[in-house]
Amino acid sequence: MQQLEPAHRVEHQPLVGASLTELTEWVKQQQQPAYRGKQLHQWIYQKGARSLSDVSVFPKSWRENLADYPIGRSQIHFQAPALDGTIKFLLKLSDGQIVETVGIPTEKRLTVCVSSQVGCPMACDFCATGKGGFKRNLERHEIVDQVLTVQEVFQQRVSNIVFMGMGEPLLNTDNVLGAVRSLNEDVGIGQRLITISTVGIPGKIRRLAEEQLQATLAVSLHASNQALRTQLIPSARQYPLETLLSECREYVKLTGRRVSFEYVLLAELNDCVEHAIELSEHLRGFQSHVNLIPYNPISEVDYQKPDPRRIQAFVNTLKERHIAVSVRRPRGLEADAACGQLRASQAIA
Ligand code: SF4
Repeated sequence: MQQLEPAHRVEHQPLVGASLTELTEWVKQQQQPAYRGKQLHQWIYQKGARSLSDVSVFPKSWRENLADYPIGRSQIHFQAPALDGTIKFLLKLSDGQIVETVGIPTEKRLTVCVSSQVGCPMACDFCATGKGGFKRNLERHEIVDQVLTVQEVFQQRVSNIVFMGMGEPLLNTDNVLGAVRSLNEDVGIGQRLITISTVGIPGKIRRLAEEQLQATLAVSLHASNQALRTQLIPSARQYPLETLLSECREYVKLTGRRVSFEYVLLAELNDCVEHAIELSEHLRGFQSHVNLIPYNPISEVDYQKPDPRRIQAFVNTLKERHIAVSVRRPRGLEADAACGQLRASQAIA
C-alpha cells in the first residue's frame, strides 16, 4: 500500500481558488486517483469544506493525515449585523491579518463586497481604509474565501460581487484576475455580475481591457475636475483626469462594455450643480453610468453627508444632460458599512 506523506511534509499550497485542473493535479501529487480532484472541487466550492477532514468521501487514513492541511479558509474574527440584513465581517487570515468583507442581501440577490488588499496605499482622504495604511496584497484564495464565507453564513448562493472593500484591486491585478476566474468558473458567478472598482492606476485599465473580461469596470471619479480630485485622491496627481477618461474611452472601445463611474457626494465640497454640469461635460457621449454615493461620515475625517435636496439637484442636472445616473441606497450604516470603517472601529492596526 502507498505510504502517504505526513501532512506537515506536504507542500502547503492553498486549495481554495484552485481550478478543477489544478486540484486534480494536486490530488495526483498526493498519489490519489484523478477523480478525487473533482470530489475535492465539489467539497470546496459547493459543500463549503473548511478542512480536508470534512471531505467524507476521501479515505479515512488520508483525511486524518491531512486534517491540519490549511486549505485556505479564514476564520470569522467578528461579525456585525445591521437591521437591513447586511452583515459586515472581519476575517482573520493565516498570518493574523484582518480583512473586511460585507454580505448585502436584497430580495433577489446576495452581493458580496470583497477586499483585495489588507489596508490600502492610495490614501483617499475620505476613506477609513486609506487612513489605516497598507499591509499587503491578498492572495487569490483569500479573495475567493471571502465569498465562500458569506455564502456559508447566509446559507444562500452569492449572486453578485463588487471589488469595493479594502484596497485598490488594480494594484493586485494578478490575484484579482485569478480570483475573478475562480469565482466565475469554480463558484459559478457570472462574470457580468462581478464589478471591479478602481480609483485608476495608469496603464492598468488597458490591461483589464486586454483580458476581455465580461466583468464591469467601475471607476471612482469622486470629482469633476483635476484640482478637486487631487485633493480627495492624492494618487490622482500622477494620473490626470483627462488621461484617466481617455483610458476609459479606450476600454469601452476595446470591450464594448460601458464603464460605471462612482462619485461619492461630500456635502458642500463636490455636490454643487456646477460640479454636475462639469461632470456631464466630461461624460457627454460616453457609454457610461454614474453611481452617486452619498457620503457616510466617519469619525476621523471632517467630510459630511450631503443634503437630500442637493443630491436631487445633482441627479436632475445629470439627467437633463442625458447622463445615466442612479443614487446608491445606503446599506448597513449601523454596521459601519463603508469601506474600512468596521476595522477602524475595532481598532485593528
Ligand atoms: S477609497 Fe478605495 S482606493 Fe481609496 S483609500 Fe479607500 S480603499 Fe483605497
